[in-house]
Amino acid sequence: MAVADGLPDLGEMERSGLSVPAERRLGEKIMAEIRRDPDYVHDAEIADYINRLGQRLVSHVEGARTPFEFFVVRDPMLNAFALPGGFVGVHTGLILATRSESELAGVLAHEISHVTQSHLARMFGNQSQAQLASLLSLAVALLAARSNPDVAMGAAVAGQAAGIQTQLNYSRDFEREADRFGLDLMEKAGFDIRGMASFFERMLQFGRLYENNAPGYLRTHPLTTERITDMENRIAQRPYRQVPDSVEFGLVRAKIRAYAGTPSDAVAEFAAQLKSGKYARETDVRFGLAHALLRDNRLSAAEDEVAALRRLKLDSPLLENLAAQIRLKRKDVEGAVRILQAGSQRFPNARSLTYALLEAKLGAGGPAQAAEVVDIARKELQLTPGDARLHALEAKAHAMLGERLREHRAQAEAYLAEGQLDAAIMQLDLARQANDGDFYEQSEVDARLRELRQRKMELQRNERNGRP
Ligand SMILES: [Zn+2]
Repeated sequence: MAVADGLPDLGEMERSGLSVPAERRLGEKIMAEIRRDPDYVHDAEIADYINRLGQRLVSHVEGARTPFEFFVVRDPMLNAFALPGGFVGVHTGLILATRSESELAGVLAHEISHVTQSHLARMFGNQSQAQLASLLSLAVALLAARSNPDVAMGAAVAGQAAGIQTQLNYSRDFEREADRFGLDLMEKAGFDIRGMASFFERMLQFGRLYENNAPGYLRTHPLTTERITDMENRIAQRPYRQVPDSVEFGLVRAKIRAYAGTPSDAVAEFAAQLKSGKYARETDVRFGLAHALLRDNRLSAAEDEVAALRRLKLDSPLLENLAAQIRLKRKDVEGAVRILQAGSQRFPNARSLTYALLEAKLGAGGPAQAAEVVDIARKELQLTPGDARLHALEAKAHAMLGERLREHRAQAEAYLAEGQLDAAIMQLDLARQANDGDFYEQSEVDARLRELRQRKMELQRNERNGRP
């Protein structure tokens, strides 16, 4: 890829800024906080969707130096942001404000490009690493206080954070560079590149309308008419491409809407939309309505919508999961397990079905089911060793079986996968004290505990030396 005009060489800046592993560690620290935020979206269907969309773009980055992780935050404010280390967050408000999947891909491509061009590290290139660490830890506090303004910490931090907010703005050069690299990624990944310009243009108009109350996105990513013109000029030089939205895009948006506001309002909103006939896909509206009805405990009506969706030939793991969740609410665990088992076989890559299946089996409460959960979780973990939720489900199953060493050992891995080193060490201590494992298990726990304590000492040493 070409080096941007008028911007310093990447290698040069990196030497004065933050190293790639240090940036990743910092990002992980921030993420450990964000995952505890009540508005962090743990829903596997939404999380998987945004990650698949993001990874489709990332797979076209040349020489990517950091793994990427995408996540969603429940917040009506239009915003998207890149944290150090390849973590990219998107607010539900922004997802709902996009009018096509290519528009959403455009926002992600822009954020990905801030990361691949090391804009954060370059922005703070002149600051010492100690300053950088304290600046970013304040940014974390700001993020945490975002939706909880009445939390005491929020008030204490607000003053200092206001100063940081202005420093976290990307420069116009960075914005132009992120637009240019982002458009390139979109094109390579097969999206409609006009999506980026159309979304940013609407944001710009929106910003003019609200002036001082502009969405958070406009404060961190300065938008100007020149930027839009630049984008449009680039787009005009490339061939026109019509790209239909994926089925998942519509379903995930409907699900987000179904869980906003009160259940009865959500039901009324979808019912009115269905009646008006104003929609692109009937399946999206009925899927949203079914989820809203499930939330509102109107299970027969929700089942009617599932039947209608099957008649409309909707073929998606999200529909299977919905059908199973309705059964679970009816306390029909066996029925739910049957649907989820068949669904997992038809859609082997749908993690949400695996989680739901394990949760349903645990809900059934018997030792035989718990043993099955352990088997399935372990098998899945061989494919995705860093899956915190699978580790946590395995821990729950061991707890039901009264296996204390195994329970705490699995819970330690769950915490570790979420970057909570201290909590992981505490669990391993408990695993050791449980004293109900065989010799090999005891020594495995000992070895893991030594390893994590060593890791903690290194982190503390780095911190004392002012490195994140
Ligand atoms: Zn930007």
